[in-house]
Amino acid sequence: MNLKNIKILIVGVGGLGCPASLALAEAGVGTLGLMDPDVVELSNLHRQILYSEEDLGQLKVEAAQRRLNRLFPETKIKVIPEAFGAANAEAVFEKYDLIIDGLDRLEKKFVLNDWCIKLEKPFVHAGVVKFEGQVLPVLPGQTACLRCLIPKIPPPFALPTCREAGVLGSFSQAIGYLQAYEALRLLNRPPDLFLWKWDIQKRTARSIRPVRNPDCAACGQKVFEEAVNQAECQV
Ligand SMILES: [Zn+2]
Repeated sequence: MNLKNIKILIVGVGGLGCPASLALAEAGVGTLGLMDPDVVELSNLHRQILYSEEDLGQLKVEAAQRRLNRLFPETKIKVIPEAFGAANAEAVFEKYDLIIDGLDRLEKKFVLNDWCIKLEKPFVHAGVVKFEGQVLPVLPGQTACLRCLIPKIPPPFALPTCREAGVLGSFSQAIGYLQAYEALRLLNRPPDLFLWKWDIQKRTARSIRPVRNPDCAACGQKVFEEAVNQAECQV
């Protein structure tokens, strides 16, 4: 596969998106889209490795673009200084081959999950809180999605973000690099996809083969059949 022709979108250029975009540009991916509405803050600098003090107050996507352009001039960097949501998901996602979930809030990760399933875009979920991190590559319709593993979406703000709970910068970077590795692997549609779970306090790293939930609200057969039945009733 020629990575120069590949376009990958990184949604959220923070503790996960910074290392993931660095690794993907270094690997030779031709186009990276960076989607994030935030500006660089002082509290970001210890774990969001694309930024320095001179970027404070500037849009993250533009600061990241400058840094990546200097390091990897052959990778095209497109910036989307918008918050991800239902209003722009389809228009933005359809331009890319694969999506990286670098969002910080779990409830938003479910929204990203659902849009990727709907649009059949391969994606790599990742999350880090305190000492625990996980990475899940997903081929929509073929492998388990985030909702297959967590059927009930937590209420908004039920779980802390890594900014609120605290996280070791180097740990979120490690998870972001693993996310990039899984993204490159996912481009070749491997038959064996795993959920990675790391706990640096317990010093454990596990890979689990995730099982699809037939009743999954995003990718389940039942929902699909219900949708088909409803469509048939309307004809
Ligand atoms: Zn599912």
